[in-house]
Amino acid sequence: MKVYNFAAGPSMLAEEVKLTAQRDFLNYNGSGMSVTEMSHRSAVYENIHNEAQSLLRELMHIGDNYHVLFLQGGASMQFEAVPLNLLHTKADYVVTGNFAAKAASEAQKYGDVAVIASSKDKNHTYIPDVDKLVTREGADYLHITGNNTIFGTRYTKLPKVAAPLVADMSSMILSEEIDVNQFALIYAGAQKNIAPAGLTLVIVKKDIINRPQSICPTMLRYSTQAEANSLYNTPPCFAIYMAMLTFRWLKNMGGVPAIQKINEYKAGLLYDFIDNSSFYKNPVQKEYRSLMNVPFTTPSPELDKKFTAEAEKSGLVAIGGHRSVGGMRASIYNAMPVEGVKTLIDFMKKFELANR
Ligand SMILES: *Cc1c(COP(=O)(O)O)cnc(C)c1O
Repeated sequence: MKVYNFAAGPSMLAEEVKLTAQRDFLNYNGSGMSVTEMSHRSAVYENIHNEAQSLLRELMHIGDNYHVLFLQGGASMQFEAVPLNLLHTKADYVVTGNFAAKAASEAQKYGDVAVIASSKDKNHTYIPDVDKLVTREGADYLHITGNNTIFGTRYTKLPKVAAPLVADMSSMILSEEIDVNQFALIYAGAQKNIAPAGLTLVIVKKDIINRPQSICPTMLRYSTQAEANSLYNTPPCFAIYMAMLTFRWLKNMGGVPAIQKINEYKAGLLYDFIDNSSFYKNPVQKEYRSLMNVPFTTPSPELDKKFTAEAEKSGLVAIGGHRSVGGMRASIYNAMPVEGVKTLIDFMKKFELANR
């Protein structure tokens, strides 16, 4: 049976990427070795490392004034690394979901942190008006979460504030065009849109990383990995290789503008279907709807459970909502084909007919 994986992360990778990795698994590029067993100091691995980096720079139009770092520890470790490197006096946060709240509460350990806006009052079904955001005088940065994986919201407009912008883009990186120059730092776990778990990307302005807090561990200092081309210690070589294959795949299909069109089409199909139905509902204010994570419910929690179980049996797997919101959530990242979304909508139609 053909399976479509709607998991929020780790999530689907492109078929072509997996086939290439499979073909080359035992013998990469005539080396007689698998990437999984190669020295990270070997020339053959270094080519992978550098190609992955330059492809990401090309795809996101990242200028020479930024470092591109390949790290470990997940986006969650960046909740600490960001303040440890960039927080000198105070930092401001916008809380638009669980991950944003975690980022703010970790940062509180390392300095004066203020939550200057939150969407908690309406269970994170919207993004606070960015035009009304004002950062505190002298704030070192403003932290936002570009796409809220659990609640299915996203920033469709960026705040124009005095403080430099830091963004967690774990669940939206490479899904739509963004202007990197608007950000001081962008970070993302790779396991949503790029590669298997284990790799975390950090894109950071070169001129802001040289004043970490004195307590910042060597391994969490951006300067440590920047000076070593992310080879200070053993990097997650295989995940970086898979990222390189995903970047090649994306470039071949026309880059971010091309995948953005497809993503808008896929999300549009699903939201239109939900909006035209009296059976299914999506709680998010329309202008803030995510292109990547689409939460929805049926008329009752019992039917939600039944939906999730029957979907799983039909090959539409991992579509249950996050435990904090319930219902369902279809994560439709870059690698989810249009066919997967159409198959889901067909299933939703049948389920409604049988259960209304
Ligand atoms: C998944 C996710 C995280 C957590 O990522 P880890 O790599 O598991 O630490 C953080 N922020 C956002 C927006 C996410 O989607």
